[in-house]
Amino acid sequence: MALFKKMDNLEEEQPTDSLNGDVEHVKVLIVGSGPAGYTAAIYAARANLNPVMYEGMEPGGQLTTTTDVENYPGYPEGIQGPGMMEDFKKQAERFGTDVRFGLATAADLSKRPYTVTIDDKKKVQADALIIATGASAKYLGLESEDKFKGMGVSACATCDGFFYKGQDVAVVGGGDTAAEEALYLAGICNKVYMIHRRDELRASSIMQERVFKTDNIEVLWSSKTKEVLGDEDGVTGVRLKKNNGEEYDISVSGFFLAIGHKPNSDIFKDYLDMDETGYINTDPGSTHTNVEGVFACGDVQDSTYRQAVTAAGSGCKAALDAERYLSRKEFEAAREAEKENAQKE
Ligand code: NDP
Repeated sequence: MALFKKMDNLEEEQPTDSLNGDVEHVKVLIVGSGPAGYTAAIYAARANLNPVMYEGMEPGGQLTTTTDVENYPGYPEGIQGPGMMEDFKKQAERFGTDVRFGLATAADLSKRPYTVTIDDKKKVQADALIIATGASAKYLGLESEDKFKGMGVSACATCDGFFYKGQDVAVVGGGDTAAEEALYLAGICNKVYMIHRRDELRASSIMQERVFKTDNIEVLWSSKTKEVLGDEDGVTGVRLKKNNGEEYDISVSGFFLAIGHKPNSDIFKDYLDMDETGYINTDPGSTHTNVEGVFACGDVQDSTYRQAVTAAGSGCKAALDAERYLSRKEFEAAREAEKENAQKE
């Protein structure tokens, strides 16, 4: 009942954002629109914080580039990634989130309210900022790779590995992610080729040992991917070139990229603490960054789990952290005003 009451009042209770010259002022600004951003928006909107969200370059985030999502709880039959993100968005809008198309291109977090520039033009000032800009998987940049994205080419073995059950697949990369993805796929697939451009792995020794001990993983050393092969049904193989110039083909139906991720945090690097890759540091167990009132959630601050469900969970935390922060600020401002009044009397 309470929910409907709140929704009936939504229009009255949610004033439009105040405009101050060219600069728009909002209470809560969310940048990024994957599971973390939308979940933060749902919680913030339901807390009457009137969130404004800028969706970024890829509305819906990384899930919009996958097909079936079968590991998100609540969908026993699975769901298409883009459809799922549409539903997240509808739910955020249903409670009053102002979802806008636009990319955050600059930020000034030196003073509150924090300023974010959208599409190099518009400036938005926020009392609290939630960063949910995600991370982008790195791709090799081959035309053939692009052509078969979602048709055998994937950058997430945990998301898509199951579709290749009993089949032969390849993983590109020699780091911990590649080792982890290869080991995961080895438990599902018939054979896993690990394609690495050098003659030694970058992965930690424990991961290397596990890879070498797994019978159905074969490391293809000193090999670079020249082309992803396929037909109208998807990937059928990979053409590789050894460092000595020799070319050879392997037959696979899945081609998994594991050559690293890049968190989308560049515009915040002058203000926020990050690790050397650019993942934003947050206080353990929370979404607080080193700047008060700026919160980070989802893959932009998580190099470990990087799952839709963990991103959504951290988006929820970011909204709750922002709500508590704003209430504390309001309380402090009211107390200050009271003190000033008392001094005047
Ligand atoms: P890394 O940067 O560690 O490894 C990337 C791998 O991809 C390297 O082997 C690199 O080759 C290769 N590579 C990069 N670009 C290309 C390219 N254009 N063509 C072919 N190969 C390429 O990234 P990860 O994602 O593996 O790991 C990131 C961080 O996260 C690391 O610190 C890692 O330890 C950590 N991590 C830890 C895990 C765990 O502890 N369980 C699991 C996953 C990640 P080269 O070696 O020649 O440079």
